[in-house]
Amino acid sequence: MNGNITVTGMVISSRPIGETDKRVTLLTVENGKISAFAKGAKKPTSSLLAATNPFVFGEFELYVGRSSMTIVRANIKNYFNEIQNSIESVYFGSYFLELADFFAKENNDDRDVLKLLYQTIRALCKGSIPNRLIRLIYEFKMLVINGEYPNCFECSVCGSKENLTGFSFINNGCVCSECAGSVRDHMPLDTSAVYTLQYITGSSIEKLYTFTVTDKIYEELRLVIGCYLRMSVDVTLNSEAFLKEL
Ligand SMILES: [Zn+2]
Repeated sequence: MNGNITVTGMVISSRPIGETDKRVTLLTVENGKISAFAKGAKKPTSSLLAATNPFVFGEFELYVGRSSMTIVRANIKNYFNEIQNSIESVYFGSYFLELADFFAKENNDDRDVLKLLYQTIRALCKGSIPNRLIRLIYEFKMLVINGEYPNCFECSVCGSKENLTGFSFINNGCVCSECAGSVRDHMPLDTSAVYTLQYITGSSIEKLYTFTVTDKIYEELRLVIGCYLRMSVDVTLNSEAFLKEL
């Protein structure tokens, strides 16, 4: 395939190549994850200088060569510059990009991953709910999109939809009060935590970042979601180390 194509997406990573060029990874609607060169994009006069920074979202025209793609021009819809206002936002945002990079694949239908990432960066800029909660919601919805999540709508032992008061990692889901005694790794879970996991699983991506939780519920969710994330993400993400310092 030779010629130019236009894709819509977000810059999820950008690395300098030599003195003047950049190598950019885009997460796109049309082609999943794409790697492209941006010639001269490090030059102060280049129209691609700001357009090839991480978090930037818009339309990118690419020249498709035999073995690589090159960004020809960009029509940017959102630079998400607000992220640069605090180092904490930069750390969280960088982690969100890196996690999306981990889950997205080349030539894959990753539209939901892109949609989730976009709404998550928006929530981070907006700042109406705590960053650490945005992180948990993002992580869990990413697992849901990838099909690697527990069943929180019914008891994982008897199938009852009532009185879900616990969780079992071995059974991969919630546990009702009747079955609590029969599960070896039973962990009590507040009904608000159960409801939150159900909400994240079932909610549209646009409505994810609309609630807050108490510290107690946050800690319960962190335990469950953190464990599932570690099972799915078998590498150490560079940006995670920075988050630990916050
Ligand atoms: Zn049960």
